Amino acid sequence: MALSFDEYGRPFIILKEQEQKTRLSGLEAQKANISAGRAVSRILRTSLGPKGMDKMLQSPDGDVTITNDGATILEQMDVDNQIAKLMVELSRSQDYEIGDGTTGVVVMAGALLEQAERLLERGIHPIRIAEGYEMASRIAVEHLERIAQKFDFGPTNIEPLVQTCMTTLSSKIVNRCKRALAEISVKAVLSVADLERKDVNLDLIKVEGKVGGKLEDTELIYGITVDKDMSHPQMPKQIEDAKIAILTCPFEPPKPKTKHKVDIDTVEKFQTLRQQEQKYFNDMVQKCKDVGASLVICQWGFDDEANHLLMHQNLPAVRWVGGVELELIAIATGGRIVPRFQELTPEKLGRAGLVREKSFGTTKDKMLYIEHCANSRAVTIFIRGGNKMMIEETKRSIHDALCVARNLIRNNFIVYGGGAAEISCSIAVEAAADKYPGVEQYAIRAFVDALDAVPVALAENSGLQPIETLSAVKSQQIKENNPHFGIDCNDVGTNDMCEQNVFETLIGKQQQILLATQVVKMILKIDDVISPSDY
Ligand code: ADP
Repeated sequence: MALSFDEYGRPFIILKEQEQKTRLSGLEAQKANISAGRAVSRILRTSLGPKGMDKMLQSPDGDVTITNDGATILEQMDVDNQIAKLMVELSRSQDYEIGDGTTGVVVMAGALLEQAERLLERGIHPIRIAEGYEMASRIAVEHLERIAQKFDFGPTNIEPLVQTCMTTLSSKIVNRCKRALAEISVKAVLSVADLERKDVNLDLIKVEGKVGGKLEDTELIYGITVDKDMSHPQMPKQIEDAKIAILTCPFEPPKPKTKHKVDIDTVEKFQTLRQQEQKYFNDMVQKCKDVGASLVICQWGFDDEANHLLMHQNLPAVRWVGGVELELIAIATGGRIVPRFQELTPEKLGRAGLVREKSFGTTKDKMLYIEHCANSRAVTIFIRGGNKMMIEETKRSIHDALCVARNLIRNNFIVYGGGAAEISCSIAVEAAADKYPGVEQYAIRAFVDALDAVPVALAENSGLQPIETLSAVKSQQIKENNPHFGIDCNDVGTNDMCEQNVFETLIGKQQQILLATQVVKMILKIDDVISPSDY
């Protein structure tokens, strides 16, 4: 704390805290912010596209994640800088709203920042740059609408949807099985979709995984899975038209509590007790059978003798099922959880078309599949893979594919990928720039260069000559007046993305441009950064 005097001689106190803050203002602040944003974008740039690289991230507790998904990379990076955090948020918002294009949006924002830096150096005011960007983004978004194509599909014609999901999956590690995974994702989305209301509740799709097997073994289950097995190995492994009793009460004779004492001094007494216990349990089994149950799912366990009896009485059972799973089963099968045995009635049974136990490879791992449930359209995508990291990355990739399919059901317009849409927008924005007489024109032209960053990154990552490739594709688009030409990343031999079946959703692409512009505008408008200094 220090005492000072102002020009009129009045004393004032300077608080120590104030001294400890560092402050950047004006152009210096903008430049520092821009370079932080660009640093984040540079990290993601090499991950863009089908030939993009993956990143390996290690968490503080040693867990390793290998991924290509922009949102996940940023999520797991320990970012300290405030502006870098904004970029993380940017990717996250794209993930929440659209689910795909999380890398592209950050690359685009980085390019906009890079161009803004140049304009700032030339003395253009940040607000003018922000306004120019806003105008340009509006032109680009409208242009996308113009070049978008309607995309027809139906419950019987799912191929177009599968193709779009394949574009998303082609840049991921799971690329090898993209066809199978895309089909699974589309079928899953269609089975929970309400095509009339154009609505998809992705919560009804559970994505589960188990280490082992290969990626090709990934399957779609029309129902739910429970990580449990039948209580006895000789019980039937498959039950059709199952009626399920869901119990949270113990399924065994009441055990004497510690305070009670049973004196057994003769063989007869022991036998009577045993018989009584057996009868008690037999009655329970009979009660289940009387109400019509063909499977018992129980929260508690039962001992080996009870297990044996159940097997003999031909009543399959599953024990030690967790509360959460029990609820899930109850919801899916339309059954009621029964807390007291006396309350078991036929209406409380859940129904499922097929319950089967599946074992995996040579391991003793078994899972229970409850399929074609009465009450629910819930489906499960069950992923297999060599290791945990692979399964986690597959989960993320499938999430992207599910989102793409959902977006198409909500709005079935598409634009072409491989940078084709960006190049077409850049041509349109460039043409429009001449109409603006003010300084904004510079910002609009800068926006054009930023739009080119996505195809340039795609070309670079695929080992092509970036500038040459971009100019060739751009001139081809202008010459043939066709917005379908993009970067031939996989060296297929044609630049026509329509032929290559590389699509992206219109709303996804629009969102990318809007969100990137919004964040860059926000960063440009900051002219004072006050932060606690390091000491
Ligand atoms: P994001 O997280 O942004 O979806 P990706 O790494 O999935 O990033 O890359 C997506 C980009 O790759 C999009 O611009 C898309 O058009 C492009 N792309 C995907 N597949 C191909 C392909 N086969 N040929 C050319 N471009 C492709």
